[in-house]
Amino acid sequence: MKQFFIKSYGCQMNSYDSLRIADALQEAGHKSASSMNDANILVFNTCSIREKADEKLFSDLGRARLKKLQAQVTGDDFIIVVTGCVAQSKSEDIAKRAPYVDIIVGPQEIHKIAEDIKNFEKKNKIIRTESNAQNKFLHLTHQFFNREVSEFLTIQEGCDNFCTYCVVPYTRGREFSRDASDIIAEAKKMLSMNVKEIILLGQNVNSYRGIGPDGETWNLSRLIFALADLDGLKRIRYTTSNPKDVDESIALAHREVAILMPFVHLPVQSGSNAVLQRMNRKYSAEEYLKCIDLLRDSRSDMAFSSDFIVGFPGETDDDFQKTLDLVEKIKFAQAYSFKYSPRPGTAAEKMPNQVPEERKSERLQILQKILNDQQSSFNEGYVGGHLNVLVTKGGRHKNQQVGRSEYSQSVAICDSYLEIGDVARVKITESMSHSLVGVVV
Ligand code: SF4
Repeated sequence: MKQFFIKSYGCQMNSYDSLRIADALQEAGHKSASSMNDANILVFNTCSIREKADEKLFSDLGRARLKKLQAQVTGDDFIIVVTGCVAQSKSEDIAKRAPYVDIIVGPQEIHKIAEDIKNFEKKNKIIRTESNAQNKFLHLTHQFFNREVSEFLTIQEGCDNFCTYCVVPYTRGREFSRDASDIIAEAKKMLSMNVKEIILLGQNVNSYRGIGPDGETWNLSRLIFALADLDGLKRIRYTTSNPKDVDESIALAHREVAILMPFVHLPVQSGSNAVLQRMNRKYSAEEYLKCIDLLRDSRSDMAFSSDFIVGFPGETDDDFQKTLDLVEKIKFAQAYSFKYSPRPGTAAEKMPNQVPEERKSERLQILQKILNDQQSSFNEGYVGGHLNVLVTKGGRHKNQQVGRSEYSQSVAICDSYLEIGDVARVKITESMSHSLVGVVV
């Protein structure tokens, strides 16, 4: 029996994969350690979305190496595993730069990690980067350990879109949608473990096309209607959507499924059609606005978050102004914005007219100021009003609990007698920079 510690970087899909790796390691008899220092199996589940992400891994591996050397002195077993998107795209590089890493497997080989550790013999490094999501989901353990009231559930993996700045199609492979009956079975198991909110995951979650129990091909909307019938499920969310796949069927789900939250993460990246074209995003700014209108017409209380990239190759001041104009039109409840980061092997990396770093920083600062102001005014708009809050954990103060509103805002509830997992109507009394305070009605 060993103690394992999993460090998960990057996206929600990595968080889900890390949970499934932990299930398999516990099923194999290993125990979860509370910190890297208490573990003799270290698993790094990596992200390669931006350059900084790669480098973060190598600095952590440096620390892991020291722990391994200490273990070798005392003759203890110590295994280092690297998985996730950097393992998929840079397995040879990792093996060269960090020869003390024992097991390097891609994100679609995580179902074999427990077996690898069992069969691992010193000196025989294991490297596997097969790309077969179907196989992964077929062989992931069905034993679940430790679930929170709000949990992710991957329904679709991989991507066929090849946006020119993105590595995901190279690290997660082609789009694969799980069978709906598989997903429903996993959801039922999660509900039996007191999960109340399920967040459906996919790189392009709204291009989900899985086989239903009726043999038909189901889309995301059809799946949501089926999940909404499950006893005990209080909330459904889904992420990440692609604007090109927003259609009437998902608007129908928002109109009719009460437990589907009125908050959609819809990355736009830029407001300039010229930039969107060079990004190969397959929609225009006008079409994006139509998606927003379609969803807003389905529920008047609908709100949005988004992703932005500034400084994409060739982006002019006028292009950037178009992004600001779009942001002004929509007013986002939340948003994530980044400077363009050239990724090895992507088409954009080789594009002419790369934008100077300081120009990227200027634009990011301007955009983030506006987005932060929009988020603050969205939150302030609820002071004196009411939100429905799912209690997720205890608060720092006596009789205080913390939860998430339907817009994923963090809400501290004072004088609360609620249980974790309860959904309460809360009167908002105060708005802080990134959270709210309220009392139960
Ligand atoms: S849609 Fe584009 S940005 Fe999103 S995962 Fe696919 S290639 Fe990457």
